[in-house]
Amino acid sequence: MEAVRKSSSVSNNGVVSKLPLYRSAPPLEVRLEDFELYAIDRLRVLKGISDGLSRGKKPDEMAKLVLDLWKTNMKNQHSSEVVNKDIISHFVLRLVYCRTEELRKWFLSMETTLFRYRFRVETTEVQRALMAEFDLPYKAVSNAEYESVKDKLNQVMRAIGQSTTSTDAIFYKVPFEEVPELVAGRKVFIQKGNAYIAMNQVVSLVITQFRSHLSKALVLTNRKWTSMIREQEKDRLAPIIEALSTSYLGPDYSQPREHAEISLKDIDQIAKSSFPLCMRHLFQKLREDHHLKHGGRMQLGLFLKGVGLKLDDALAFWRAEFSRKVGAERFDKEYAYGIRHNYGKEGKRTDYTPYSCQKIISSAPGVGDHHGCPYRHFSEENLRAALTRMGVGSRPLEDVMDKVRNRHYQLACTLTFEAVHGSSCDAGVNHPNQYYNDSQRILESKKSSSNP
Ligand code: SF4
Repeated sequence: MEAVRKSSSVSNNGVVSKLPLYRSAPPLEVRLEDFELYAIDRLRVLKGISDGLSRGKKPDEMAKLVLDLWKTNMKNQHSSEVVNKDIISHFVLRLVYCRTEELRKWFLSMETTLFRYRFRVETTEVQRALMAEFDLPYKAVSNAEYESVKDKLNQVMRAIGQSTTSTDAIFYKVPFEEVPELVAGRKVFIQKGNAYIAMNQVVSLVITQFRSHLSKALVLTNRKWTSMIREQEKDRLAPIIEALSTSYLGPDYSQPREHAEISLKDIDQIAKSSFPLCMRHLFQKLREDHHLKHGGRMQLGLFLKGVGLKLDDALAFWRAEFSRKVGAERFDKEYAYGIRHNYGKEGKRTDYTPYSCQKIISSAPGVGDHHGCPYRHFSEENLRAALTRMGVGSRPLEDVMDKVRNRHYQLACTLTFEAVHGSSCDAGVNHPNQYYNDSQRILESKKSSSNP
């Protein structure tokens, strides 16, 4: 690892950077446990970035978010371990996210954003060292050339609200098509097909390189994965890799909130006020049809366990509905086992965990199924009708539909939560039980402030 760190972050003039360029995989042994834990921590950073971007955060808000996420999730007591963790986690996630076009696209975009904000806070010396490591074929503009274009350069810098300090006086000359962001934003002086890039603008140049290198590397990693690694590692790494891309990183909701319990007499009212749309829909279908298929029973049953429905009440609840359709005897014979099983009272006696949004969104409900996430699985017409029934007004409804069109289902659910509760949900919705808990908290505090 040390070798990689040196080759990737120490320049000719001895400047050391903690920002690796991930040019080659580290030739070191990693404990299986660290392999997974490091990857999960990096994933928290990338998912936080993805959330920030889809919420439309501005560049300065993103800069703060990215650095906070990095500090919270990637810290380690020893600074050399921080670099190791950085490199190992990046390469593990390359394996995880190389496997489909969609995964590659997401990873490329999040890693590039992460790199951009980390690069921006490095000192000018480190930035120059990193540029040298990229082997960019550009040289700083000579003094004589700088003098000949100085006035034009100053004009452009003034126009974009930047003063030229002595460090900015280092300019690079590059073919203009290599810095599309700067050209589009009219932030550079162009002459004879070359753009003059100030030192504080090189991030654009470096990002183009970083992105193109990582994009090629992901395609190559995918080839290696399908031709070799998947088979070689089928019993060891492959299951971890395959689980990581859909892993849920939030808290465990298998136990209800402290002191929380719901009783059967309140359940209809609570479903109306605090269930997310996926669970409201299942609940309503169960009440209408007195039946749910296996996927629906699992999704709703585990959710109800997480909100505090005790096993005896759960059995009574499901029996009351199912016996109207299949009879009490058949319910006891065929369905009661599944409910006790969810509570860890049958089979392996595992206490099963309520499903996360990610798991629900990636499910594939078939004909006659009612499980899944309505934001993903409903037709536009049905979704609009369901949201209107929940009390979402026409303006927020359009915002929700906009998120759905861009396939940001959890954000669509977050906006619904905010519209229905008149209160913000900064963490975003990641789990139906989190939606429920947050909703109850808001309703309780509204109740106590109206009855002091
Ligand atoms: Fe349910 Fe999550 Fe979909 Fe909301 S985003 S409806 S909580 S699965």
